[in-house]
Amino acid sequence: MSGMAGARSVAALGLATALAASCAPQQRVHSGRFLAFGTLVEVTIWGTDERRAHQAIHAVEQEFRFMHRTWHAWRPGALGRVNALLATTEWFSVPPSVRPLIVRGTELAETSRGLFNPAIGKLVELWGFHQDERPAEPPPEPGQIAELVEQAPRMTDLELEGIRLRSRNSAVQLDFGAFAKGYGVDRAIELLRQRGIDNAVINAGGDLRAIGRHGERPWRIGIRDPRGPGILASLEIEGDESVFTSGDYERYFDFEGVRYHHILDPRTGRPARGVTSVTVIHNQGAAADAAATALFVAGVGQWRDIARSMGIKFVMLVDASGHVHMNPAMAERIRFEGEETPPVTVTVTDPL
Ligand code: ADP
Ligand code: MG
Repeated sequence: MSGMAGARSVAALGLATALAASCAPQQRVHSGRFLAFGTLVEVTIWGTDERRAHQAIHAVEQEFRFMHRTWHAWRPGALGRVNALLATTEWFSVPPSVRPLIVRGTELAETSRGLFNPAIGKLVELWGFHQDERPAEPPPEPGQIAELVEQAPRMTDLELEGIRLRSRNSAVQLDFGAFAKGYGVDRAIELLRQRGIDNAVINAGGDLRAIGRHGERPWRIGIRDPRGPGILASLEIEGDESVFTSGDYERYFDFEGVRYHHILDPRTGRPARGVTSVTVIHNQGAAADAAATALFVAGVGQWRDIARSMGIKFVMLVDASGHVHMNPAMAERIRFEGEETPPVTVTVTDPL
């Protein structure tokens, strides 16, 4: 969701493109690119004739544009209206375009034990991340942060009855930034399936979901090195899988030598500490996206617990000293690509 997303997308797209080209003659590969959710989205379709593929890509592009506008956290749109009305604590009619994110966001907030919390829009705004380019201002005052943490906005403050919605807590402001891209990718995949397309990849700046077969071989994707220009590792995906990464390099500002990034710990009201990136594989994009954010907040001490509670089977976490933490299932799939293999700890998460 930022200008910083470029490098990661180039890494992932570079690999994807190389593979697609190599199987082009037999496989009939068609692709299209456009900008949405502040990043480059690439749709690649296998084994469908050109006309149908391009019509589908066009439809996906229209859908992404709609979702971006509708779920934007600070530009005027459906979510802006919902947020204005939530602050009143009165009942109102929730637009159908926003309702499913509230329902799914509430479920994911619960299984993440509140570490993924899309009700903290006020906190995100206080930190200055509700603007395209944050000016070089100091971080917020501790008192202001403490006040918002105290008000404890949560998805369970919402009452949803049919299409009627209200918040019991006037501090709830919705920000779907941590899973809207994943939710959007799921919707776009659904749209492709409705058109009879079963082999495709939707790559949104390195976060992606694939379905079906993608050429002759499995699809190899790169995971960006959180502290360097290149790729830290790669992994292969097959069938219906999503790969989502949250990193402290996506949106941040530096002030007096300290980096403040955009993934906030709802318990402290401050950027989560100790982690530089988390990569998650899961079948659904929405859950993968929310989990990458939640496990980033959970950190080295808690990621296993939260992964289990969210039903996530594959996790790779890079901590602030460059140490890589994985569960055995992920370790089997990860291939390090840098000149030096980083230190790695593989620990078992209890069976799901
Ligand atoms: P990106 O979209 O850059 O890959 P994330 O998926 O991790 O990154 O989402 C980060 C965004 O989510 C922030 O910009 C903010 O809008 C919102 N956010 C920050 N902290 C949280 C949190 N703990 N729970 C839910 N949303 C959050
Ligand atoms: Mg996320």
